[in-house]
This record gives sequence, structure tokens and C-alpha cells, in this order.
Amino acid sequence: VSAEQKLAVARAIVSRDAPYIASILYGLVPHPEKGFGTMATTDHMVLLYDPDWLQTLTDEVVAGILMHECCHVFYEHLKRFEPIMGGEERVLANIAMDIAINPSLIDANWKLTPGALLPKYYGLPNGLTAEQYFVELRKQKITMPNTGLPGSMGSGSGEEKQDENKEGNGSNEANSPKICSGCCGGVAGNKGKSEELESQLNREFGRSDSEQHMMVRATGESIRHFHERQQGRGNLPAGLLEAAKLLEEPPRIDWRTHLNQVVRKATGKIRSGGKDFSLRRPSKRSYTRGILRPGLVQQTPEIAIIRDTSGSMGTEQINAATIESIAIVKASGVDSIWFLDADAKVAFQKRVRLSELRTLPVHGRGGTDFRPAIEALVKLKPKPDIAIYITDGDGYAPEKPPNGIEFIWCVVASYYKRKPANWGHLIVVSDENITLSDPLS
Ligand SMILES: [Zn+2]
Repeated sequence: VSAEQKLAVARAIVSRDAPYIASILYGLVPHPEKGFGTMATTDHMVLLYDPDWLQTLTDEVVAGILMHECCHVFYEHLKRFEPIMGGEERVLANIAMDIAINPSLIDANWKLTPGALLPKYYGLPNGLTAEQYFVELRKQKITMPNTGLPGSMGSGSGEEKQDENKEGNGSNEANSPKICSGCCGGVAGNKGKSEELESQLNREFGRSDSEQHMMVRATGESIRHFHERQQGRGNLPAGLLEAAKLLEEPPRIDWRTHLNQVVRKATGKIRSGGKDFSLRRPSKRSYTRGILRPGLVQQTPEIAIIRDTSGSMGTEQINAATIESIAIVKASGVDSIWFLDADAKVAFQKRVRLSELRTLPVHGRGGTDFRPAIEALVKLKPKPDIAIYITDGDGYAPEKPPNGIEFIWCVVASYYKRKPANWGHLIVVSDENITLSDPLS
């Protein structure tokens, strides 16, 4: 069986078991390269592979590797790590991307090579984003992949790992040095020695950015449909659906309308006495309208807006989302709110009149951790009924929602493609139509 035939069989397996990935799978441009020693996808979707190496692997492992490469493309890993890719830390970034992909593939019964990297080799949990892994690996001062195989810089967890992957082992160690082990080529940002070859191939055969973008979007749509119908064999690997949802075309209704609806519904619930507000002030409106009666007090909801000021935030979008949130709050008749700036910690918190907000500088510029701000929220007095967290979604969230707070994640669309938590409302702020009209004027 030739390497080409082997690849064709593997593609057939992938398109049978993961039909949703077909746009990317058939969008890859295969290119055999003798002596290359592995498989890698360039940043313009040229699939470089060593035909001799390929023939040492089982069809199922080749299928698993192809799926792994498709995931790199779908998650747009290289784009997300663009600032890192030119520098010393690209191996680190590559490891981070690989450990973000591999556990979900193994869980969904894909076979990988024995050297496949997993988060546990670094003492890390499954299910984080590549960016989150990157930050953790950097803390550990990791410089090379730990494949869990003998001879690799080990953490002692290698044996466990090998057992797990035994049935997927279609080759011996010497023949499976790199794939999924932190050296996945251009798509995973590790161009290494083949850099020149890759850029030449990109020029000759590569897909343009807009072609790639179309394939990624089409794949996102297929994943969403697949999930709805649950067709075909196998499970949807964890993370793909979330990523696909965030790729979704902006809904017919504008995100502002959506945010407005969620806020109004939440304030309406509170105003109509959905909660016990006996200890709270009645709203000014209740007084001025003269409708203040015992037991029928119209309450003003307490609202908190948290602005993610971490370095990864797109400043223009975060400003637009903040201004929009303030406008919506203002329209709901609230005149004072809690306002927090938070990155990895709370950099600023104050109860402010909406009119003060225009002059507030941005506080903090570190990494992202949602937990400190959420911990701070529940301690505020008066405690917020509604919280709007404006963020790009890249950070740690608590497992459970804060008690008694209607929580709204207002996520500025980014490459992170992730709902920050499994709870709360999600508003995705789309790239389009960002305007900076000032509702406070
Ligand atoms: Zn990889």
C-alpha cells in the first residue's frame, strides 16, 4: 500500500467518523516529503508528510493524526499565537496547542501516536485553552516536550500514558518522534528546520487566509448541525462545539438588542418582586410616581459592570461593549452602579453614578482571572442583582455561579472561542458595527 493510499484510507476514516471536519480535511493540500520524519500542517494548510514514516503507522493512527491537524486549523492556533510564533517560546506554544487538542481526541476514541502530549505530563487538568496552558507551561519554565516516553524529560507519569495509548500504537518509538508531540509544523507554529521548505510550499500550494477563514466557518456550521442531529459514528470531541458556537454568524438580532433583552428581563424579574428585597431601598421612580405602597415596592436592581482590562482584550471592542452596557443600564432607569476593573485581580471597584463613568481611566493590564472579581461581587453591599462581565472570554471562572446574581457574560469575539463558564447568559459582541457613540452625553 503506498503512502498516498494510506492517506486516502485515513481521510475516509476521518470523514466517516467526523463528517463535520470535511471542509478542513479536504482543504488540506497533501505534500509528500521524504526524510521529513513526521506530519505537519503549514500555516497555509499544506499537509507535509514523510511517506516512509506514514507507512509505519496504522490507518487508525494516521486518521487520528489527520484529525489532530484539522483541529489545529479549526482552532486557528497559529493566528491566536501569532505574536509568540517568531520567538523563542514557539515550542512552548506548540506544546500548549497540542495538549489543548489531544485529551478530547483520545476521549472521543481517536488513536494518536504514543508520543502524543497530554496536560497531565505537566500536572495540568484537561479542558483548558491553549492560551491557558501556555501561561501554565511558562510558569513551569518548560523548554521541550515531555512525551511521557523513555528518554523524554519525564515527570514519572510516562508509563500510565503509554498504557493508555497502546492500542493506538501503530509504530515503534523511534518512528513516531514528533507528531502531536510539540512539533506539528507551521499550523502549530513550529517551523524549525523546514521553515524554508514550508514557505516555498505555501507560496506554491497554500490556501489564502480568506479560503482558510471560509473553511473554518463552514466547519463551525457543520459541527453545530452535527451536534443537533448527532449523526455518524463517534462523539464530538470536547471543545469543538463551544468553538463552533462562537464562530456562529451574528444572530439576526444585534448583540445590543440581545444584551438589552437579557438586562430588561433580569431587571423586570427583580422589579416585580422575584426576590426578597425587604432590606433594600425602593427606587427613586417608585417615589416620584407615587406608587410606593407596603408590599408593592418597586425595587431598583443593583447592577455591577465588570470590565476585563487584561492585556489580551481588544481595547476598542471592550470600550464599545462597556459603553453599550452603560447605555442599557441607564435606559433601565438605574443611575448608580458598581463598576469594577479586573484582570487577574480586582484593580478597581467603586459604586459610581453613571455620569462619572466617562472619566474613569482603565485600571490594570495583567492576565485574566474571573474569580477575584466574582468573589468581590458577592461581598459588595448592596449586593448586585445583575452582573455584566465584559471580557474576551479567556480566563478562569469559578465552577458555580455566584449566588443570587443574574450573571451576563458579554464576550467580545476573539480567537479564544470559548464561553467563560458553563453558567450565566452569553452575549457575543460581534466584530461588525462597533461604534463608539457615547450614551452619557
Ligand atoms: Zn499538533
